[in-house]
Formats: sequence, structure tokens, C-alpha cells
Amino acid sequence: MSWTAELVREIRGQVLVDDASRASVSTDFGRIIVRKPAAVVRPASAEDVASAIKFAVCHGLSVSTRGGGHSQTGQSLSDQIVLDMTSLDKVTEVNPGQGTLTCQTGLKWRTLVEQLSSQQLSPFVLTNNLDVTIGGTLSTGGLGVASWRYGTQADNCAELEVVTGEGEIVRCSREQNQDLFDAVRAGMGQVGVITGAKLRIRRYLPGFRSFYLLYDDLGVLLDDLKIVMTDERFDYLESWCVPCPQGFKQVGGTRQAFAQWFYPLHATVETEGSSGVADDEKLRGLKFYKHVHTENGSLIDFFARLDALFAIWRRAGFWEYAHPWMECVLPWPSTAPYIGQVLQNMPPQAVAGGHILLWPARGNSSSVPLFMRPTSDFLMGFGILPAVPPRFLEEALPKLNMVSQTCMMMGGKRYLSGWIAFDAAQWKAHYGEKWPAVVRLKKHFDPYRVLNPGFIKYE
Ligand SMILES: Cc1cc2nc3c(=O)[nH]c(=O)nc-3n(C[C@H](O)[C@H](O)[C@H](O)COP(=O)(O)OP(=O)(O)OC[C@H]3O[C@@H](n4cnc5c(N)ncnc54)[C@H](O)[C@@H]3O)c2cc1C
Repeated sequence: MSWTAELVREIRGQVLVDDASRASVSTDFGRIIVRKPAAVVRPASAEDVASAIKFAVCHGLSVSTRGGGHSQTGQSLSDQIVLDMTSLDKVTEVNPGQGTLTCQTGLKWRTLVEQLSSQQLSPFVLTNNLDVTIGGTLSTGGLGVASWRYGTQADNCAELEVVTGEGEIVRCSREQNQDLFDAVRAGMGQVGVITGAKLRIRRYLPGFRSFYLLYDDLGVLLDDLKIVMTDERFDYLESWCVPCPQGFKQVGGTRQAFAQWFYPLHATVETEGSSGVADDEKLRGLKFYKHVHTENGSLIDFFARLDALFAIWRRAGFWEYAHPWMECVLPWPSTAPYIGQVLQNMPPQAVAGGHILLWPARGNSSSVPLFMRPTSDFLMGFGILPAVPPRFLEEALPKLNMVSQTCMMMGGKRYLSGWIAFDAAQWKAHYGEKWPAVVRLKKHFDPYRVLNPGFIKYE
């Protein structure tokens, strides 16, 4: 009997071995790495996850955990067993009094937001893309436009249910099995599969008012961001680098397109209704070049505000291109010199079908040990998120790798869901003084190296 036929007998949920099911999880949003699994397990419970892992241990196989498959370096792919966590998608308890909810982790954040909306409750931090799963972002960190104050989504979880690399089901929190709790949050599925989560939730105001402010000087924007993060006059902050093409100029013997860069800042407050916000007070002292627009609406629409952009990317075909996204967290003093240098050499067409994000944060907003970030009073999340036609990939990857290396040389840390081409030395450098603990935790919780092999290079 083949091992896939044996696996079917171990699992109460589904084990899919047909070509279409295997092909549907053979790549991720990156569309750079392809690995077609021999079997796709859609667990019915944490016990099923444990059975799949124990089976893999017994048969010398490996298991990769997949949420929504938005990773970009094949982090959620396997040529053996893929655990498709989207079958575990239930909210099991909402407790407004305690400010928590409990759910399975294949649930999408969008479903959670929709289910909580009748009570005007939401998680503290939401990602731009609501179609990612709770397990997927707790495993990378999970950043959003409220992260400047509340840290990552992984900061806002109180307890987890985890199946370890030995197939043991363990509950962990800050109080109980803390080493496992700290190893799985932002742990890229390396030491366990998160099957359940207790998340912090809050009551929100029904409306929002967003100020669309445009800056023509990065230094001025950075000064203003420090002001508004310190006095907390806004609830949500998001910013971008956008090119205004200026034609062509000579660069090293060739004529290259170049841009003048601008920096929109969308600063948003929650509101009781459309009135009641003193605009003058909100904008006092800020040195933007132009106040372009003010947008009002319901907060539930604000949470999904990027849907319109993603719909354009899909309609235009950009969604099907390769996505070697390069996101990093920079120390504040490196932000202006690094970004200035990167943008100076970036032709405007390089970000067609994508964008360049600027997400500021206070340096102490996160305390998740494996969400690697520099030590600095303020931090800047910077992301070059291109959509690259496959024929340009060979040309684009070395350039993005160079930009990634420069960021690390300037004290930055990479966000691990994107395009990561680290060798063993770079992995060690990424985790710095935490590297011995990362290796020890892997050995302890996944002694047979069953989980998500190949991404982090342990030696
Ligand atoms: C359009 C778009 C917008 C995005 N916007 C944001 C954003 O605003 N903020 C942000 O932080 N990120 C953002 N991302 C990145 C995205 O959040 C991460 O890639 C996230 O990990 C994807 O979640 P997923 O459910 O698709 O996980 P997958 O891509 O399936 O998995 C990601 C990693 O987590 C592991 N994993 C998945 N589920 C589990 C589990 N239950 N237990 C243990 N390990 C698990 C996988 O093995 C893999 O290593 C965006 C991505 C896209 C494509």
C-alpha cells in the first residue's frame, strides 16, 4: 500500500491526492517556487494535525503548513504533505467582557471581522489583505495600520493551541509553556502548527475620517510621523512612496527612466459619526505639501479599504505575476538615507502593479521575541511590493536581493513572508543573539525536522 493510502486511514478530515487538489497548493503568491505535494491534508481537528505529523515522523516525511498561501518564497509549500489549514475555520467563543475571542486558525481575518461587526468588535491589528489566515499571520507577525501603537497581530494573542513537531497538542501563553508560545509567534511554522488562538478584541467607533496628506520631502514626513505617533492624535497611519515620472536620464552609459518621489500619508481617526472631529486640531503643526482629500465612512469599510486596489491588480492580471516582495523594518536613523538611496536608483515602472509601503511604528510597540526588528525609539516598515512579469524575474531578483542586503547593512531586519534568499550566514545574522535559541527550540519541538523544511537554514 502506498503511504498516501495509509495516510487516508489516519485522518478524519480529507486527504486529497488528485492532481487538481495537489496543483492548487503547488505555488504561493510569490509564484517563484513550485512544489507539488503528494498529498493535501484538510484536517477536521487538532487531533488530525497531530495524526498527520506523527505519520510523517514514522514515515520519514515532511509537512508544510499552509494558510492562504500568500507567502512568496515557498514557505507554505511541500513536495510531500501540505496541511491545508483552511478547513479549521470556526470561531468558537466571543467574550466581549474579557475582550477576547477563541477561534481555529485556518479562519480568514475577513470572516472574523464580518462575524464581529454586529457587536462593533474587532481585533486590535488587521492586515491590508483580509484574506490571509489567522495562523498565517501569527506565524509571520501580522502588521497593519494600527501596528504603530499595538504592535503585531502576534502581540495581540493571549493563548495558542499548538501541535508540535512530535504531534503533541499543547496549550501555551505568557503564563504556560512560554517557550513554545514565543517560538511559534512569528516562528514561520518551524516548531509547531498553530491550531487554535485566543485573540484580544476591542470595541470600535462606527465611523472614520481619513486625512489624505501629500509630502514632497521624506525628512519632513518622518518628522511629522514622530509627532503624531507621540501625541497619538490619529488611530491609523499608512504611507507610501509614489513616483512622478520625469523622463529619462543618463545612468552608467544608458538612458534610464527616473522619477521625482512623493509621499502620501493617510492619517485616520475613528469617529462616532461624520462630525465631531476638529480638523484644525488634527492637522495642527504638520508640514505636508498639500491636504489632498478628506474621506469619511464606516469603519467596517475602512478595514477593507485595500480591496479596491487588490481588485485592480487582479483585473489587470498583476495578481498572476511573480511577487518577490521585499519588506523590512528599519531603525529610524537609517530610514531617510536608505530609502533615499533605494528610490534614487528605482525606475518608476518597477512598481507598476504593486506599491512601496511606509509603515511607521514606535520602537516599543511589539514584544514578540521572534518578530525581528532593530532597537530604535521609532521604526519604519518599508516594503517594495512589485508584480514582476515572469520574463523579467531573472533581472529583478538580484536587484531586490541587493536592496535587501543594503537594508540589513544599515541595521534593518527583513519581514519573513516575502522574497527571502538568505544563505546560512544571513539566517544567523537575521536572528543575531537569538540564533542559538532558534536552533535549540527547533531541536526541542521538532526533533525529527518534520515541519516546513528548507526555508530557514539551520547549518
Ligand atoms: C496582497 C497582500 C497583502 C498583504 N498585506 C499584508 C499586511 O498588511 N500585513 C502583513 O503583515 N502581511 C501582509 N501580507 C503578507 C501575508 O500576511 C503573509 O504572507 C501571511 O503569512 C500570509 O498568511 P497566509 O494565511 O496566506 O499564510 P501562508 O502564506 O499560507 O503561510 C505563511 C507562513 O506561515 C506558516 N503557517 C501558516 N499557517 C500556519 C499555522 N496555522 N501554524 C503554523 N504555521 C503556519 C506557513 O507554513 C508559512 O511559513 C500580504 C500579502 C499579500 C499577498
